Amino acid sequence: MGGVEEEVGVEGVQGVGVRRRTIRAEEGKGLERSSSSPREKARELWSNVKHQLVEFSALPEYLRDNNYILGHYRVNYPFKRALLSVFSMHNETFNVWTHLVGFFIFLGLTIYTATHLPAIVEPTTLQRWHSGITESLPSYLQLPEALSSCVPGTYDGTQCVERPITRWPFFVFLGGAMFCLLASATCHLFGCLSQRFFYALMRMDYAGISTLIAASFYPPVYYSFMCNPFLCKMYLGIITTMGLVTIVASLLPVFQSAEYRPFRAALFFTMGVSGIIPCVHKILLYQDEPVAYQTLYMEISMGIMYGLGALIYATRIPERWKPGTFDIIGNSHQLFHILVVAGAYTHYQGGLLYLKWRDVTGCPVP
Ligand SMILES: [Zn+2]
Repeated sequence: MGGVEEEVGVEGVQGVGVRRRTIRAEEGKGLERSSSSPREKARELWSNVKHQLVEFSALPEYLRDNNYILGHYRVNYPFKRALLSVFSMHNETFNVWTHLVGFFIFLGLTIYTATHLPAIVEPTTLQRWHSGITESLPSYLQLPEALSSCVPGTYDGTQCVERPITRWPFFVFLGGAMFCLLASATCHLFGCLSQRFFYALMRMDYAGISTLIAASFYPPVYYSFMCNPFLCKMYLGIITTMGLVTIVASLLPVFQSAEYRPFRAALFFTMGVSGIIPCVHKILLYQDEPVAYQTLYMEISMGIMYGLGALIYATRIPERWKPGTFDIIGNSHQLFHILVVAGAYTHYQGGLLYLKWRDVTGCPVP
């Protein structure tokens, strides 16, 4: 953090070919003051040197990912030091915090949604909701008409017995988002422990991405096709199968190698892009309903954010233009993280729109 940095040559540290490490002058001086015997002083100095920030050129092979991030790497940290490094400045600090903050945002949204959305919509609640969302719903939609429609299985011949528009698909998405963000923050914080941990956490990170993509399908697919149980089950079955295959593939050690990188990218890309199919299908089914287009616009916004994030991630902009300048803040990975959180938040807003739409309209009376 604060302090003048100076380069110190260290030969053959831990057999990982580390040649040069960056030592902070202030920390070194502080150490001298606290040590008593020369032996203790040497031991502490060695321990301190061992866990200083490292330059790209000194990294073991498995950590060499982005050669435009030139310094401030952590290597072979013990657990406690890695944990505490969440509060110090290195090139993973903002990667951790962008997704840790994202996780807490989604945790807050989950609690808010669980406590503020009524589980079963009663006519009085419906009336309140209806008056609150007239701008976001079709203007021709009138409450009496809305009340005259029922979710399948809730029509007793004369009226809807209840309107339990289930919330679970919405919580599947929220759970997936929280898992993805927390897995990512953990991966960035503890990837410096050892090679074994690095690969294990990386696989968890991929599994988190797969989970988020698959879970994101649940609210739009369920609420778009809930009035047609066959289509609903078919789409959810396909995306669940694809999600599970991708999660299992992400967790297999064989897929972590560099040669499978294009395969992994293709897997994520295919799963994400396949979302276009239910979106188009929804528009075909509900071409006369403005809410179908409103949710579509939100899905397109989310797609643009994820797409832009993936593009920035792949091209390593802006650090490729000025290597070393964005080591701590402003590099492509952090921009990618922020766009993921923004995309997921847009999806949350879209999900709310779906819920309100279905709570008000239900399904046509059979
Ligand atoms: Zn990341």
